Amino acid sequence: MIDKAIIGIDLGTTNSLVAVFEADGPKLIPNALGSVMTPSAVGYAEDGTLLVGRAARDRLLTHRDMTTARFKRYMGTDHEVMLGKKAFRAEELSSFVLRSLRADAEAYLGKMVEEAVISVPAYFNDIQRKATVTAAEFAGLKVNRLVNEPTAAALAYGLQDREAESTFLVVDLGGGTFDVSILEMFSGVMEVRASAGDAFLGGEDFTDALATELGRQLGIQPKDVSKEEGARLRGLADKLKHQLSDRAETTADYILKGEARPVSITREKFDEITAELMKRMRLPIQRAISDAGLRADDLHRIITVGGATRMQSVRTLITRLFKRFPEHSIDPDHVVALGAAVQAGLAARHAALDDVVMTDVCPFTLGFETSIPVGEDRWEAGHFSPMIERNTVVPTSRSDVIGPVNARQNEIRLNIYQGESPFVKDNVRIGSLNVPLPSDPKTDKAVDVRYTYDTSGILEVEATILATKKLHRLVIEGNPGAMPREEIEKRLKALSSLKIHPRDEQENAAIIARLRAAYENSLGETRLYVGRILAEFESVMHSQDKRAIQEVRKQIDEILIRIEGTDVF
Ligand code: AMP
Repeated sequence: MIDKAIIGIDLGTTNSLVAVFEADGPKLIPNALGSVMTPSAVGYAEDGTLLVGRAARDRLLTHRDMTTARFKRYMGTDHEVMLGKKAFRAEELSSFVLRSLRADAEAYLGKMVEEAVISVPAYFNDIQRKATVTAAEFAGLKVNRLVNEPTAAALAYGLQDREAESTFLVVDLGGGTFDVSILEMFSGVMEVRASAGDAFLGGEDFTDALATELGRQLGIQPKDVSKEEGARLRGLADKLKHQLSDRAETTADYILKGEARPVSITREKFDEITAELMKRMRLPIQRAISDAGLRADDLHRIITVGGATRMQSVRTLITRLFKRFPEHSIDPDHVVALGAAVQAGLAARHAALDDVVMTDVCPFTLGFETSIPVGEDRWEAGHFSPMIERNTVVPTSRSDVIGPVNARQNEIRLNIYQGESPFVKDNVRIGSLNVPLPSDPKTDKAVDVRYTYDTSGILEVEATILATKKLHRLVIEGNPGAMPREEIEKRLKALSSLKIHPRDEQENAAIIARLRAAYENSLGETRLYVGRILAEFESVMHSQDKRAIQEVRKQIDEILIRIEGTDVF
């Protein structure tokens, strides 16, 4: 029996999902609209409450200044997004999504939920991981563990066939990141052997490339169009990109200055304009295989995860590289959340998972900046000295003794980096630690530096002066992506006064947002028709007759499905 509910959350760039581990396995939880996918979009409604999910997503075009999405890419940066007059960091925006998922889970389970396993791209750095933990804290959730997305996916697949002995490769192309992991499985034990990836490659880059191409066909450049037109063009590009996953060619009309203008794209042309992006997928795949000490032939199963692996070019690349078709028997949109729920089940020691053990690795090298001698009494700074090498099994702890370059030095500044380059300028700076040294020149100035990397992929750095046994811990400073504790507390207080749109009114908000979007995206008769329905629905809402509202909403949904299916944008 589980005595406490721990939920599994896939906090995605485009969509987020929540799942829970039950006696018969992991189960996805539907939101207030009945869907298991909640768009990672947030906005203000007219009454000042916060809308999350589908209603917010559908208002992206109609209420641009009040709505935002795709903020996961700003996790771990100090970038702020304006919603109305208020500025929000990605941690805060993500916390609204997490709050909404938490409310869905509580409604489903009928009890309070205060703990979660949250998935993150394997390639998320330390600052992005800490930002995810902060987002959860803002949403009143304790992070039991952060699980790497490809590892979560593998857990979901592994559970299906837990007695099998196999080695499999997980290719995860989401909206904003690309991850590759190799796992080995034998009698319930799942071991990640290697992970690699690209934190700046995702399905959204393919959409951007196609939007540029459509702009070229229309003779417009980003600088010539309004923000609204640009967002609409990108929306159209995204829709056509999805269509190209099932057909070789697609066309649509784009409304430019009140005139419907045709655009078209073939799969061939799409592959041509995204060839550079495709090339970037090869390196992490090759690195993961070689780091695991394997050859492509040693892999038994190839699993694809993340919405963007539905693109034909991705499937073709994988089929060519491995001479077999990739598997996707579990819906790629669901698999990470299902795996996060398995991890949550493991954390809650669910009896059904008694024989399952999972180990993960640190996907990148962690170290510090050093100086190397370049001649008589001359030192050159800027070099990277690894402490924990990539693909070390986690949790792990490593230490090393370092000393000052110069005996008169009274401080060592430890600059902490992550990455694979020998030069720190090409790696990611995580933070720094100032270690004051004993002033007495006769005292030994050696310092023991210890790096500890936990199962969530969070790093702790400690430095102990050996002579005095004085301990110093990493304080993240000078890194704008990391929020200091006082700032977290301050924002937490401010967030508690924000009101979330009531859960039982979300369906109305969502249908109105869709009607408004359909109105803006159509012309002529259709537009007049949508306008009439919108007015009628608002008057039904005034009646406050719940049954009548529900009935009309159902009818409108059917009408909208038809209108949204037509290719005018
Ligand atoms: P995820 O973060 O896993 O939800 O992945 C989202 C990304 O997958 C976005 O860039 C979507 O545009 C993309 N995506 C979802 N479905 C498809 C599809 N059928 N064809 C192409 N790309 C898709």
